[in-house]
Amino acid sequence: MPEINSLKEILAYPKRIVITTHHKPDGDAMGSSLGLYNYLIQKGHHVKVITPSDYPTFLQWLPNNPEVLVYPHQEEVCATHIAEAELIFCLDFNALSRIYDMATPVEQSSALKVMIDHHLEPQDFDDYRYWSINACSTAQLVYEFICKVMEEEDLINKDVATCLYTGIMTDSGSFRFPTTTPAVHIIVADLITRGAENWKIHQLVYDNFSESRLRFLGYCLLNKLEVLPEYNAALIYVSAEELERFAITTGDSEGLVNYALTINGIRLAALIIERPDLVKLSLRSTGDFPANEICKKYFKGGGHRNAAGGQSDLSLDATVAKFKEILVEYKSLLIQ
Ligand code: 5GP
Ligand code: MN
Repeated sequence: MPEINSLKEILAYPKRIVITTHHKPDGDAMGSSLGLYNYLIQKGHHVKVITPSDYPTFLQWLPNNPEVLVYPHQEEVCATHIAEAELIFCLDFNALSRIYDMATPVEQSSALKVMIDHHLEPQDFDDYRYWSINACSTAQLVYEFICKVMEEEDLINKDVATCLYTGIMTDSGSFRFPTTTPAVHIIVADLITRGAENWKIHQLVYDNFSESRLRFLGYCLLNKLEVLPEYNAALIYVSAEELERFAITTGDSEGLVNYALTINGIRLAALIIERPDLVKLSLRSTGDFPANEICKKYFKGGGHRNAAGGQSDLSLDATVAKFKEILVEYKSLLIQ
């Protein structure tokens, strides 16, 4: 693979660029994508951010969010941009299956593909790679890409800083996960210096619940949380009917799984949600318990050791039963 540094010359002249990220983008996916967008447009590039699905409203205030194209909403226009692109930046994912229907057009495009990512086991579809599993977020890597590879930290203006701060804040669990190193705090200090309004960003992302979302949270914690102390595990599972009853939309269930993990002694928490097309799992763990191993082995998914996800073709009840069976296999690790 060629050196990432050669991108400096390639990006010295205006290019047609597409930036994409994973299905159901989260704060890091949108923060890193729009952070890179707001940087590249200052250099005169023609840039489109294209997401493979919609994303939560609590991210739709990010600078230049109105420029984002949602692939399933404008498939033809997006496919043309992808086909005509000279570079495609793939942010916060490392397997083409994570971009669903966009995988084929991206794969077929003659554009140079640049992966910037922090997930384990990257697939080999890229031409350039800026990748580290030690990064707390892809937004951190975009910051380092701009500063260390492109040597253009002066182009980190308020818009770029705001987006990258959002990505780092959300993926580091508001600076509390073990990946939040001194280097991350130094980066975040720099982003605040460059205009990111930290208190306001936190408010826009986290104090932006609809009433029904808050009531849904209360309902789940009271009625849908099952604690399995013999496994140091807890799970929450929700049917499609319940999602409909509380008018739950994309992003509304984000963070729910973390509540199960706040119980003293719980090492593994699961959120199992019945979506219209499939059953989706979100796992969270503490310490060295490998949540991603369960997702990879049993639920066609993956992720990080402490935050992973996957899916199931079984019914909601059968998926819950399967998850509980898997706990038996992992019991010795869970009760250590
Ligand atoms: P979440 O539970 O918030 O949806 O996802 C947590 C993490 O798990 C994500 O950052 C991503 O790394 C991973 N993840 C979630 N869903 C999937 C999936 O379907 N496939 C893979 N490979 N990883 C996933
Ligand atoms: Mn991420």
